[in-house]
Amino acid sequence: MSRIAYVNGRYLPRRDATVHIEDRGYQFADGVYEVCEVRAGALIDERLHMARLQRSLHELRIAPPMPPAALATVLRETIRRNRVSNGIVYLQITRGVARRDFAFPDPPVRPTLVVTARALDFAKNERTAADGIVVITVPDKRWPRVDIKSVSLLPNVLAKQAARDQGAREAWLVDGNGFVTEGASSNAWIITEDDRVVTRPADAGILRGVTRTVLLEVIATHGLTLEERPFTVAEALAAKEAFVTSASQIVMPVVRIDGHAIGSGKPGPLALALRRDFHRHAEIGPKER
Ligand code: PLP
Repeated sequence: MSRIAYVNGRYLPRRDATVHIEDRGYQFADGVYEVCEVRAGALIDERLHMARLQRSLHELRIAPPMPPAALATVLRETIRRNRVSNGIVYLQITRGVARRDFAFPDPPVRPTLVVTARALDFAKNERTAADGIVVITVPDKRWPRVDIKSVSLLPNVLAKQAARDQGAREAWLVDGNGFVTEGASSNAWIITEDDRVVTRPADAGILRGVTRTVLLEVIATHGLTLEERPFTVAEALAAKEAFVTSASQIVMPVVRIDGHAIGSGKPGPLALALRRDFHRHAEIGPKER
């Protein structure tokens, strides 16, 4: 079956799914995106993803390309047409197509909307979680507005490639004071010797992950103590457990950071328990197919 993408009002075979060379997403990375998990044909935590999307658009003064209900229909239709049962749906909105000029087009142009969906190998992800992943640390060289889920991701791309080059899965970004901000495409967490779960506050320096938001609830129901505060690389290396969160990885245990084994060097039991329980707390939409 050939994959289908939604582009500005049309569902197209992927080979025909293109945007204009003067799209501001291409020219300036002037756009935002969202990635939402699809599980057993249902959208996970759609409400939170759409709320964050509206916030990102507002912060960049990009007009929503369509009302929320219409966008919800496009997401579902893209999932349905691609027959995705377990995977992700991706959406990108840019400021649109205009003659190349740094300032916003005036009058504004129609924003570009692209939606794609693809299956993820559920069993493979579970095997990865059972093994745990390896992480490296790199300096955080991003702009200060990382709270906006913008498509300006070059520092994240370079960090992820540095990880790949060193046989790691994720890069943890470290700020000028030696504190971990987050992963290149995930939020970063550690669990201390006395079972306190530590993650950086979402007010500055990180993207407020939807998975992170939902996991705060899971942590509370497990009776674990949460500390929202910055942590150093040294503290992470001495942690009992570590893990990352994102919509596509849920809770992914980290077993090595910069070559040092974390805890026993195996996925931690608390991280695995949080992973197991996550979807009991997530908002699961109606099945699409
Ligand atoms: N932080 C960054 C930089 C990300 O790119 C992502 C996801 O892509 C996350 C955190 C996790 O966000 P979410 O849980 O909403 O997928």
